[in-house]
Amino acid sequence: MKIHEYQAKEIFRTYRLPVPKGGVAGTAQDARRVAEELGASKFAVKAQIHAGGRGKGTMKEDPSVHGVVVVSSIDEVEQAADRILGKTLVTKQTGEAGRLVQKVLVEEASQIDREIYLGMAIDRASESPVVIASAEGGMSIEELAREKPEAILKVPVDPDTGLRPFQARALALKLGFGGKTINRVAGVFIALARLFLATDASLAEINPLVVTADGALLALDAKLNFDDNALFRHKDYAELRDLAEEDPLEAKAKEVGINYVSLNGSIGCMVNGAGLAMATNDILTVFGGQPANFLDVGGGASAQQVEEAFKIILGDPDVKAIWVNIYGGIARCDIIAEGIITAAQKVGLPVPLVVRLEGTNARQGRDMLAQSGLELTTATTMADGAQKAIEAAGGN
Ligand code: GDP
Ligand code: MN
Repeated sequence: MKIHEYQAKEIFRTYRLPVPKGGVAGTAQDARRVAEELGASKFAVKAQIHAGGRGKGTMKEDPSVHGVVVVSSIDEVEQAADRILGKTLVTKQTGEAGRLVQKVLVEEASQIDREIYLGMAIDRASESPVVIASAEGGMSIEELAREKPEAILKVPVDPDTGLRPFQARALALKLGFGGKTINRVAGVFIALARLFLATDASLAEINPLVVTADGALLALDAKLNFDDNALFRHKDYAELRDLAEEDPLEAKAKEVGINYVSLNGSIGCMVNGAGLAMATNDILTVFGGQPANFLDVGGGASAQQVEEAFKIILGDPDVKAIWVNIYGGIARCDIIAEGIITAAQKVGLPVPLVVRLEGTNARQGRDMLAQSGLELTTATTMADGAQKAIEAAGGN
C-alpha cells in the first residue's frame, strides 16, 4: 500500500527522522494559512499524488506549472497552490493520463548544499532488507541503476539487529561525509532502518536527503510503501489508504477478497488459483492474445464472489471477450456456473464468453450453463480455450 508524502513525513517524525516544517492543504486559502503559520522566507509547494517525478512533471492544463514549486512569498504560495490543486499532474510515473491533485504540502524550503539518495527495500538476491544509498541524489534510482550502477551502494540489514552503527558509519564515509557529519548521517540511516523494519514497509525512500547550507540534515522527500500482508498489524497505517489513488477495479476486488491485477489486453480472465491464472495468461500470450487482467477468484470461491469477479471484469472497457478457466478442486464447478448465470442475468453479457470447466462437478456445471440459455462457447483443453478466447475477442 502506498501513502502520500505528507503522511510518510508524519511517520518519519515519530522515528526522529529530520523533515522540513510544513502542513498539508486542500485549497489555495488553506495553503496560504499554512505558509503564514510557517513564517518562512522560502516555501516549497508540493503536489501530493502517489507517484514520483513530480519535480520534473507538469500540469496537463498548464505545462508551465511543475508538481513541485519553490517560491519566496506567501502570495506566491497561494498562487502556486491554485495552479496545482484540482489539476492533473503528469510525470514519468503516472502515464499520460496523469493524476488529479487534491492536496498540496506546503513546507519551509531549504538552501540545498548537498543531496544524496537514501532508500530501503527488500533485496531478493540477498534475501534480506537492504539500505540503498548514492551520492547522486535527486536522480531517480531507476535512471541511476541504468546509467551509473556503480554509484549505488547497498548494505544488507539483519532484521533482528537492525542497521548496526559501524555499518552506518562505513556507509556515510563511502558517500563522502566526514568529521562530525558522519555520526549524524549514520543516525539517519539507522532511524530509517528502524522505521522500515518496525512498520513492515516494503519500500522507504528519501530522495533527496539533503545537507542544507547551515549544515542541517533534512529528508526533503519521503516515500513509504507498506507490505499489504502485514497491514493487519498496523490498523492506524491502513487508515491512510487513499482509494482515489488506486485503480477502482483493483480496489473493488480487494474489498470483496478477489486477487485482481488490471493489465492492458482485451481478454478478461476468470480463473481459480494464482498458478492457473498465470498459466492462463501465459497460454493466451503464446497464442498471440493479450490478457486484460490477472484474476484469481480463490480456492473456495462462492457464487457471490464469481458474480463480483464477473462485474469487475466487465467494468474494464477494454475487455472484448471473457475466458472462464476453472479447475474445480475445493472450488466446485456447479457453484461457479451458478455465479456466472446470476451475474449474466444481473449485468447482462455484452461480450462473448468462453468457458472451460474441469474437475469437481464439472459436468453439472456445464449442464447448468447449457440449460441457462446463455450464449457461450465451451472449451476443452487450455490451448483450445486460449484459441477460442482470442477468436472471440476479434483475433490477435
Ligand atoms: P519528486 O520529483 O516527486 O521526487 O519530488 P521531490 O520531493 O523530490 O522534489 C523534487 C525536487 O524539488 C527535489 O529534488 C529538489 O531539487 C526540489 N525541492 C524540493 N524541496 C525543496 C526545497 O525545500 N528547497 C529547494 N531548493 N529545492 C527543493
Ligand atoms: Mn524525490
